[in-house]
Amino acid sequence: METSISLERALALAGSLNIPRHTETIPLSELSGRILASPLSSKVDDPAFDNSAMDGWAVRAADCTKEETTLQIVGTSRAGNDQLPEVSTGHASRIMTGAPVPPGADAIVMVEDSAEEGEIVRILGPARPGYIRKQGENLRQGQQILPTGTLIGPAEASLIATMGHHEAETISKPTIAVISTGDELIQPGTELSPGQIYESNSYGIASLVEKMGATAKRYGVVHDNTEGLRTTLNEAAESCDAILTSGGVSMGEWDLVRRLMEDEGEALFWKVLIRPGGPPLCGSWKGTPLFGLPGNPVSSHVVFISLVAPWLAQSMGTDPEMGPRLADRVRVRLTEDIKGAPKKLCMRRIRIEPGEDGLVATVHTHQGSGNIHSMVAHNGLTLLPPDTGGKAGDIIDALWCR
Ligand code: AMP
Ligand code: MG
Repeated sequence: METSISLERALALAGSLNIPRHTETIPLSELSGRILASPLSSKVDDPAFDNSAMDGWAVRAADCTKEETTLQIVGTSRAGNDQLPEVSTGHASRIMTGAPVPPGADAIVMVEDSAEEGEIVRILGPARPGYIRKQGENLRQGQQILPTGTLIGPAEASLIATMGHHEAETISKPTIAVISTGDELIQPGTELSPGQIYESNSYGIASLVEKMGATAKRYGVVHDNTEGLRTTLNEAAESCDAILTSGGVSMGEWDLVRRLMEDEGEALFWKVLIRPGGPPLCGSWKGTPLFGLPGNPVSSHVVFISLVAPWLAQSMGTDPEMGPRLADRVRVRLTEDIKGAPKKLCMRRIRIEPGEDGLVATVHTHQGSGNIHSMVAHNGLTLLPPDTGGKAGDIIDALWCR
């Protein structure tokens, strides 16, 4: 087992742990949140035919070069109608947004630039070829558009429908066990007795798992006893593709996840040189990948974002650009001094906002690793290298969380 390693080394070691990959075909209406298991090409041209971007008149541009032109109305082109009038010299066809451009016409005049008078229309403004959306200008039939590993969100779902697919082959969601450990933890909704706190990590971690396109299976709280923990880990290893625990990975006598993994599991590494989140543990239990996240709520989130999420994305075979991710690397200007950490990559919570010339970072709450409010009041994490503080005005690397 390696200890006290860099985040890069931790990611490299975790990369040897894999989850089984299966695929399943999912109907279009249920694709949101799924990840493509094979690339998707368009079945059609989009637009399928030349059509109008405006309500107005389909005309010949050459007829409309004067300040005002009078044209004879020869018919109407409506969306969904294939009975199109022919537009010859001196003619105009009424046209609705999205309707096919009738033969002969090569430009559109907006209805606002016209005056209709019985059988004729006076053209008072420009006839623009640019108001015609050309067949295939968005997508070409056969063109590969979405790569394997794309996370399907709202726009992707619309695009898949536009391309003519009624279903897609997706990666089966892996099931990730979420186990909280600690004798002090009780469920919200009950009275706290002295020394107790509300169990919160499993809710946040399960939500992070779901955001990555996997399924979270919460096991609730396991008390600090070896028997119970062993039983729950065995159960989770049987029915899940990976296991996430929180708490119990520090140096203390009651830090049983660490002790059990050392004695009976296969630990790859323990302790990563990051702050917050120093003591994560990683390895496998009965062949199932296991990440032991620290108990402090901020630490467990930060370790998930910086270590578990990239590992999960890679294990699921997602696309680096199009797949799920929780944060993007950006450059931000500090508005105040921020302390770094000795020997550790320092990930302080910052709020990232657009400024006059680029992104700026501000700090709003207490930074303690027990203060989960700091993950809500902020939307980013500094990436201050080991032994490096940031001064007001410095431009530094940061993670902008989604
Ligand atoms: P541990 O690593 O188990 O010593 O936990 C570190 C700190 O995080 C302690 O203050 C715990 O009470 C707290 N903690 C551990 N697990 C949870 C949890 N599931 N929800 C909220 N706080 C937790
Ligand atoms: Mg504990």
